[in-house]
Amino acid sequence: MTATAIKVLRICSYAPFIRHQAGKSLGLTTQMRYASSHSLIDLPETHALLRKTCRDFAEKELIPIAGQLDREHKFPAEQIKKLGQLGLLCVDVPESEGGTGLDYLAYAIAIEEISRGCASTGVILSVNNSLYLGPILKNATPEQKEKFMKPFLHGDRIGCFALSEPGNGSDAGAASTTAQLQGEKWVLNGTKAWITNGYEADAAVVFATTDKKMKHKGISAFLVDKSTPGLSLGKKEDKLGIRASSTCYLIFEDCSIPAENILGKPGMGFKIAMQTLDAGRIGIASQALGIAQASLDCAVDYSMKRQSFGMPIAKMQTIQNKLADMEVRLESARLLTWKAAMLKDAGKNFTKEAAMAKLAASEAATFNAHSAIQILGGMGYVTDMPAERHYRDARITEIYEGTSEIQRIVIATNLLKEHGF
Ligand SMILES: Cc1cc2nc3c(=O)[nH]c(=O)nc-3n(C[C@H](O)[C@H](O)[C@H](O)COP(=O)(O)OP(=O)(O)OC[C@H]3O[C@@H](n4cnc5c(N)ncnc54)[C@H](O)[C@@H]3O)c2cc1C
Repeated sequence: MTATAIKVLRICSYAPFIRHQAGKSLGLTTQMRYASSHSLIDLPETHALLRKTCRDFAEKELIPIAGQLDREHKFPAEQIKKLGQLGLLCVDVPESEGGTGLDYLAYAIAIEEISRGCASTGVILSVNNSLYLGPILKNATPEQKEKFMKPFLHGDRIGCFALSEPGNGSDAGAASTTAQLQGEKWVLNGTKAWITNGYEADAAVVFATTDKKMKHKGISAFLVDKSTPGLSLGKKEDKLGIRASSTCYLIFEDCSIPAENILGKPGMGFKIAMQTLDAGRIGIASQALGIAQASLDCAVDYSMKRQSFGMPIAKMQTIQNKLADMEVRLESARLLTWKAAMLKDAGKNFTKEAAMAKLAASEAATFNAHSAIQILGGMGYVTDMPAERHYRDARITEIYEGTSEIQRIVIATNLLKEHGF
């Protein structure tokens, strides 16, 4: 276990048992343990401890307030700060770069457990980890990392990712936001839409076209400080779900940033965006698993307590069939998600698997949330129980970071390529 991984577990005041176990594990690197117990039956010790830490955090710090955060559309600032101190805003950033130094399987597990408590908190973490730090870690210069990565590792600042526009979401290569080099500055003009963390973020990875003739090959990525003159925010979107996370437009009007704020080379932006989304989809799949699990937990608990026709409804076969279908969809999606994470950790191609994971997990989340409401009957339809929130939160997982239609295209394209087509 790495020193920082131990720190993640040690800082946590939720499970003394974990600290004891973590102490016993000194000397083993994550990689070594991963290799020695690489199985989907038993999680490696580090991952099992992390899972318990995150579950305890969710139960104590998120589940009691998730309904209120949702009702008030309130960003969970205090909880994000604590999660930052636990190392969960930079899970896979190497220790040598100041991060937690765990792998993507650990990241998937953490996002699932946190989302089980509060799906909004899950996406706030996922955006910072995958969509903001991910492309910076891979493509930034040491100077860029100093300014745009280090302060964003432990919750002092958070970042966002600005690819979508009002006129194009799925067709990301059609970006109409422009960046023109004028002397020592890039000047950005245009509007980015639906930006998660937009209100709270201190910086953004922004995609803009530097050469319209080149279409998607003319898109470049930029690092933009939120305080830059010429950058303003649109209104906060009033959303169906994940209401504790902010979503808004970023509006660029002659917004000048230093020439050195280009991320990677000119024209690399589309590739950076697609690579970033491959990894991000593992995060959203994990968020969806958390919602699917929370829905199932709620349904199981209610069905064992609710009496109808003189017996708990859990004894009725129609209810049992629903519970069985929910469990199968959830567990299948979890295996796909962990497989995609393991492929990424092994340095293998995981584009198809990440798309399969996101598709299966998001559909499991909506299925489970829908079934949970049915099992709860009238109680599923009111805010006294969390089922209706899970139902609203689940829906977005089929839309952002590529809709389900786009995931099917990615899966089929890669499948056919494997068959030489
Ligand atoms: C709450 C929220 C948070 C978001 N956060 C971010 C963020 O942080 N950063 C960011 O950059 N974006 C973000 N997005 C944007 C999100 O990624 C897009 O909404 C999504 O990619 C879909 O794009 P669109 O809304 O423009 O829909 P469209 O692309 O217009 O699609 C409309 C419909 O047409 C279908 N469709 C489109 N093209 C095809 C095709 N080729 N084949 C078959 N069907 C197709 C789609 O599947 C969909 O059903 C967020 C969106 C929401 C709602």
